[in-house]
Amino acid sequence: MTESLEDKVREAFAPEGALSRAADQFRERSGQTEMAMAVARTIDQGGVLVVEAGTGVGKTFSYLVPALLSGERVLLSTATKTLQDQLFGRDLPRLVEAFGLPVRTALLKGRGSYLCLHRLDTARHDASLPERGSLRTLAKIEQWSKATRTGDLAELPGLDERSPLIPLITSTRENCLGAQCPQFKPCHVNLARREALAADIVVINHHLFFADLAVRETGMAELLPTVSVVVFDEAHQLNETGVQFLGAQLGSGQALDFARDMLGAGLQHARGLVDWQQLVAGVERAARELRLVVGKQWPGTKLRWLGPSPEGIDPDAWQQSLDDLQHSFELAAEGLDTVSEISPDFVRLHERARQLAKRTARFALPCEVDSVRWVDVGSQLRLIESPLDIADAMRKRVLKIADPEAELEVDAYGEEIAREEPPPPEDGGRAWVFTSATLGDEPTLRWFTEPCGLRDAEVLRVQSPFDYASQAALYVPRAFPKPNDPAHSQRVAQLAAHGATELGGRTLVLTTTLRALRTIGDAMKQQFELLEAELRPEVLVQGELPKRVLMDRFREGASGGRAGCVLVASASFWEGFDAPGDALQLVVIDKLPFPPPNDPLVEARSQRLEAQGRSSFSDYSLPEAAVALKQGAGRLIRRETDSGVLAICDTRLVAMGYGRRLLAALPPMRRLDNESDFNAALEALKP
Ligand code: SF4
Repeated sequence: MTESLEDKVREAFAPEGALSRAADQFRERSGQTEMAMAVARTIDQGGVLVVEAGTGVGKTFSYLVPALLSGERVLLSTATKTLQDQLFGRDLPRLVEAFGLPVRTALLKGRGSYLCLHRLDTARHDASLPERGSLRTLAKIEQWSKATRTGDLAELPGLDERSPLIPLITSTRENCLGAQCPQFKPCHVNLARREALAADIVVINHHLFFADLAVRETGMAELLPTVSVVVFDEAHQLNETGVQFLGAQLGSGQALDFARDMLGAGLQHARGLVDWQQLVAGVERAARELRLVVGKQWPGTKLRWLGPSPEGIDPDAWQQSLDDLQHSFELAAEGLDTVSEISPDFVRLHERARQLAKRTARFALPCEVDSVRWVDVGSQLRLIESPLDIADAMRKRVLKIADPEAELEVDAYGEEIAREEPPPPEDGGRAWVFTSATLGDEPTLRWFTEPCGLRDAEVLRVQSPFDYASQAALYVPRAFPKPNDPAHSQRVAQLAAHGATELGGRTLVLTTTLRALRTIGDAMKQQFELLEAELRPEVLVQGELPKRVLMDRFREGASGGRAGCVLVASASFWEGFDAPGDALQLVVIDKLPFPPPNDPLVEARSQRLEAQGRSSFSDYSLPEAAVALKQGAGRLIRRETDSGVLAICDTRLVAMGYGRRLLAALPPMRRLDNESDFNAALEALKP
C-alpha cells in the first residue's frame, strides 16, 4: 500500500524522522506538526487553508515539508525580496538535501530586481547620468554583468537600493522591448521566467503576484495554472499589497520618466526626424501645471478626492490640467508613431504614451464603484484610485485561476513557452495555504479572511510554544500623560531612556507616527548627554541610516560595550525587526496603533462598514490596532530562551472598555502593576 502524504509528513516530523537526522537543533514541536498535517491534508484534498502560527511554531517547515513531499508543483509567495532570498537560499536547500529529493527550485522576482542588458547599453551612452559617483557604480555594474548568471541585483555587493542609477539599468513593463529586444536571448528577466516555468518549486513575492494579476505580464499567467499547491507566507500583508496593484496610479514622476526616455531614444535613433524637444517640453509642462494646480501643501498630504476634483482644488482648473496632460501624451504618441519603423524602442514608447493618455483620461472620469480616489502630494504628485480590499479580485480572479479551464489565454511577454507539466490533479483541485504569525484577534481570523475573500476557508490557529508568562512581562504605566497630551512623547522617551540605561541599551522604541519618532529620538539623545560617555547608549533613529545597517548596528551594540544601543523606529519595524537572544530585552510602544482616521482609504473602508450597518470601530479600527499591536509585541520574544519586558505607554489600554480586547490579543505575558514592579523586572533582566 502506498504511503499517504500525511503519513510521510508525520514520519518526517517524528523524533527520529528525517528532520531530526538532518538538523541537530530540530526538536519535535506539536504545533509545528499539527500545522504540517493540516497543510498535508489540504494538499491531498484541495481547498483553502488559513493558518495563524504564533512566533516560534516553525511554520516555514510546516508548509515546506508537505509541499516538497507531495511531489506536486508548488508556488510559494512571501512578503519581501529579503524573505524570498531566505526561503530560496537557506530553508529550501536545507530541506531538499535532507529529503534527497530531485526537485528543481527557482526564484522569481519582479523585473525591477534584474539587470536589463538593453538599458545598460543605453545608460553607457547617456550623457546626463545623475551624478559623478554614478559613473563609478556603472563601471562596477558592467564588470559584474559579465560574470553574473542571474542578473539579480541583490547579488551585487554594496549597491545602494536607493541609487538613482537603478531605474536606468532595470526595465519596466513600459520600456521593455520584449521579443523585439536585441538582448532578448540572454535577457535575465526572460531567463528567470523560463527557469520558473521549468521548476517544481517557484519562490515569488506578493508584489509580483499582484502586479501580474493587474497587468498579466510576469509570466504568472502561464505559471499558476500548472501548479497544484500555492502557499502565501506573511499573508497578513496580502490585502495591503494587493490594493496597491489592483487600482490605478498616475504620477507626475511617471510623466517625467517617460519624457526622459523619449528624449534619450529620439536623440539616439531619430535625431532631427521629430521635434523631440518640443514633445518633451509639452509633457513636462503639463505635468508641472498639474502639480501647480494643487498648490502649496504639506509634503505627505493625501488630498481626498470625492467629487470631480480633489478637495480644495478648482474643478475647472483640475479638469483643464488633466486634459492638457492627456493631450501632451497623445501628441507624443503621434510623433513616436511616425518613427516606429526605426527602432523597437519607439514602438514601446508609443504604447507607453497611449497607456499614459488612457490612464489620464480614466482620472478625468468618475471613480469606480467600491474604490476610493485621492492625491498623494510630495515633490511629485500621485493620483491614486484603489479598491477597498482584494476580496473581489481574489474570488473572481485568483481562486478562479485555480480552474485550469479559465486560464491560458495571454502571453504578454511576446513568446510562447512550451510546457510539459501536467494540469493540476483532478481528484482534489488546487491547494491554497495562507499563513502568518498574525492574522487576526479572534478565532475566525475575520480580520484576514474577509478583505481577502476567503470567508469559506478552513481556519487553524496554532499557539506559540513560548512560555510567555515566565519569559515576558507587560507594563502599562497608569500615571502617564494621555496619548494626545503634548508631553506624552517626552514621557515615553524618559521611560525608554530609564530602561535602556538599566539594561545597557537593548531597547526598541516603536512609534505610531514619524513626528513622535523624531521627538522621542531627540529627547533620548538629550537625556543620555547627562550620562558619562561609557554609560551612554547610542540612539539609532529610523531614517538616519538604511534599515539593514540600523538592525546590524543594534545587534552589534548588544554584544559590544556596556552602553549598547536604542533603536527608535516606526512603520516597517513594527513587524520587520528581528533581534533574538538578549540583544533586545525591552520594547516600548508609544501609542495604540489605530489606523489614521483621516487617511482616504481608511475613511472609505469605515464608511462602507457603517453603510452596511456595522461598526467601523469594532469591525475595523480595533482589529487593525490589535493586529499591529501583536506584531509590535512580537519583536520581543523570538526564541524559547528569550526574556524581556513590553511597555505600552497608552493608558487607554487599561482605562477604556475596548482595552480588554486589545490586551486579549497580546501573548499571555505576566502583568507588571506599577513602577516598582517594572524596575524589578528590569533588574532581573540585567546580565
Ligand atoms: S527584453 Fe526587456 S528586460 Fe530584457 S534586456 Fe531587453 S529590454 Fe531589458
